[in-house]
Amino acid sequence: MKTAEIMANLAAKHPGENEYLQAVQEVLESIEEVYNQHPEFEKAKIVERMVEPDRIFTFRVTWVDDKGEVQTNLGYRIQFNSAIGPYKGGLRFHKAVVPSMLKFLGFEQTFKNALTTLPMGGAKGGSDFDPVGKSNDEIMRFCQAFMTELWQCIGPDQDIPAGDVGVGGREIGYLYGMYKKLAREYNTGVLTGKGATWGGSILRPEATGFGALYFTQHLLHKAGKDIQGKKVALSGFGNVAWGAATKAKQLGAKVVAISGPDGVCEIPDGITDEMIAYMLEMRASNRNKVEDMATKFPGQAKFTAGKKAWSIPCDIALPCAFQNELSEDDAKELQKNGCWCCCEVSNMGCQPGAIHYFQNNGILFAPGKAVNAGGVATSGLEMTQNASHISWSAKEVDDKLHFIMESIHEQCVKYGTQPDGHVDYVKGANIAGFMKVATAMLEQGII
Ligand code: GLU
Repeated sequence: MKTAEIMANLAAKHPGENEYLQAVQEVLESIEEVYNQHPEFEKAKIVERMVEPDRIFTFRVTWVDDKGEVQTNLGYRIQFNSAIGPYKGGLRFHKAVVPSMLKFLGFEQTFKNALTTLPMGGAKGGSDFDPVGKSNDEIMRFCQAFMTELWQCIGPDQDIPAGDVGVGGREIGYLYGMYKKLAREYNTGVLTGKGATWGGSILRPEATGFGALYFTQHLLHKAGKDIQGKKVALSGFGNVAWGAATKAKQLGAKVVAISGPDGVCEIPDGITDEMIAYMLEMRASNRNKVEDMATKFPGQAKFTAGKKAWSIPCDIALPCAFQNELSEDDAKELQKNGCWCCCEVSNMGCQPGAIHYFQNNGILFAPGKAVNAGGVATSGLEMTQNASHISWSAKEVDDKLHFIMESIHEQCVKYGTQPDGHVDYVKGANIAGFMKVATAMLEQGII
């Protein structure tokens, strides 16, 4: 494989789209050796086809804010790859959303979905709409306006969006309401992450965080370690961080830090159930300030402005917020403070320098596409329940989620075990995902 040539071509076609190029570079570096053992992939130009999205929809979204002023945002849906199933992936509402971000996320989603063992292709979408400071009514009007364009691109057997940063159960509800009205179709399978009373899967809100901790347990077990009593620092306080904190505490770990864009809250005695429940209120308030935790629980949580969770001594770091949120300097600080494991829960949460630092310094590291795949996997379980008009119990969903995370870990071990016996989880996840998608593309011909 001519990685440099492929990257140069991609950079020329997508100038300045650094996050997208970063995601592709990481995958190509990992799969190069395996790819070169398969001349049939080279002949069918699998990599050249796989790195480009199948299609991109861009649309204007106009809505009226609470002051009566007209607002205009951009909306997108990027259908990346459908080799193993219909397009599937979340919607991100964040002021920094641009095509590069959604292309990197759609690309990652393709591999992640392949790892889940379920038949789902990769997609991503969203808008540069900024939910911070917006009222509930404004969120509803925006979601409705967004869906007046999106509905034509999606469908239960075609493309199934869900949540991501800035899009949770409330937004999915508003989006589905408008979809139903426009499409005159009552198939709840068109979106996942729905409310539990109208087609949503039990445990979907918790699934990304729960799955991440199940994966972490397998990784620790493989390394001869245990999570019990370990100190965990995590970033964010949204849905994913909430699920991760809940399960970490249940498994006997101590969550000693959560963070936000404004700074970090150190929690020396470990997060309590009341604090975990309060994370949900913080998310729903749209204030986007982790300081609110320290205001609500003075004496238990200590806020420091401008600092990251990675400045707090811990055993295990769990980035749960945004891409590139953990730099090489953060990795060094973590190690200096005793951290020996980082499981990336956010998509591409660690910068390449941080990943290399972890890998070169004996710190256990696993990438987001493996660690956080429990979220989309449970979306897949929601689709199955919707298609068969049934609803599984929490135990049924949790058992299936456990099985899927174990299988993802096994795939990483199968493809990532190095000659010296240690597991390179980045390679393992990328090669396992790639082999599945590439084989499907090959079998479906040149399309
Ligand atoms: N946004 C989540 C992810 O990054 C979930 C996607 C889904 O459930 O479709 O995987």
